[in-house]
Amino acid sequence: HAKEKKGNYFIEYDENMNYRLEDQIILEKKLRDAIKNRAFDLYYQPKYDVRSKEIREVEALIRWFDPVSGWIPPSEFIDFAEQLGLMSVIGEYVLETACKQAVYWQKTQNKNIKISVNISPLHLKERNFIMNLKKIMERTGCPAELLEIEITENSLLHNTGLIERTFDRLKKIGISIALDDFGKGFSSLSYLKNFPIDTLKIDQTFVMGLKEDTNDENMVRAIIGLAKIFNMKVVAEGVETCSEKMIIERADCDFLQGYFFSKPLPSHKIEHLFKKEFS
Ligand code: C2E
Ligand code: MG
Ligand code: MG
Ligand code: MG
Repeated sequence: HAKEKKGNYFIEYDENMNYRLEDQIILEKKLRDAIKNRAFDLYYQPKYDVRSKEIREVEALIRWFDPVSGWIPPSEFIDFAEQLGLMSVIGEYVLETACKQAVYWQKTQNKNIKISVNISPLHLKERNFIMNLKKIMERTGCPAELLEIEITENSLLHNTGLIERTFDRLKKIGISIALDDFGKGFSSLSYLKNFPIDTLKIDQTFVMGLKEDTNDENMVRAIIGLAKIFNMKVVAEGVETCSEKMIIERADCDFLQGYFFSKPLPSHKIEHLFKKEFS
């Protein structure tokens, strides 16, 4: 076996690897073309507000349409784009598109719709992140209260003080911060103590097991309790069934997100949900 040195560790060489490398080269070319041609789109998924029983917030989720392969899901290109250093460019596009959309809805809907945007760790850690974000907000006229930044705990690993400064500046501007996929990884509780997080998003894996496994219900209750102590709002992700909705509502969750309410949709197809009265 030939071994290839990569970073600090060795990876075993096997025959599939050539194929995978070839695949990656093709994907990289496609991705660079997609950025050039702006082949991305944002879909929006509602977050159901348990107390008011309406939709006032949505999450923006990127979609990539490739003329040959069709729709390519984020799970197949986000990490790769991050490795290639392309997530900042893509992220700026996402932020700008979301800001424009928020302003458009501010003008055309009867209530303000807040949009949360997923930001990848390397993008968040860029020196110009805040400056570019401010420029985008000025250019689009998007007010800070219509924007939320979603990050995963990967962004908080190896904190050098830079993240704290970035968070402080976000807070000063008036943008709220959500911690995504909470409970999925190592989820250090010190994150909750050390960072100014406004919203905790419970990872879908806890929600999806809710019927069979009472431990999942205990886990969900514990996370919600923890969030309340720290004055955070809680969103449950991946709510697919009515029984999941009922169990999580009973646990005093603030927002529910998932296919039960709606899958992510293009902007114009989600608008009717802003007017809908949920029972
Ligand atoms: P996420 O931020 O945790 O987003 C939630 C994911 O769960 C979305 O997948 C959404 O379509 C899916 N989902 C929502 N409700 C349900 C449900 O009831 N059941 C199931 N099975 N799935 C549900 P999506 O759109 O494929 O995105 C996957 C991940 O890719 C996101 O996870 C996020 O980490 C990343 N991502 C998406 N868009 C962006 C983006 O614009 N920028 C960055 N940096 N990452 C993004
Ligand atoms: Mg998210
Ligand atoms: Mg998530
Ligand atoms: Mg996720």
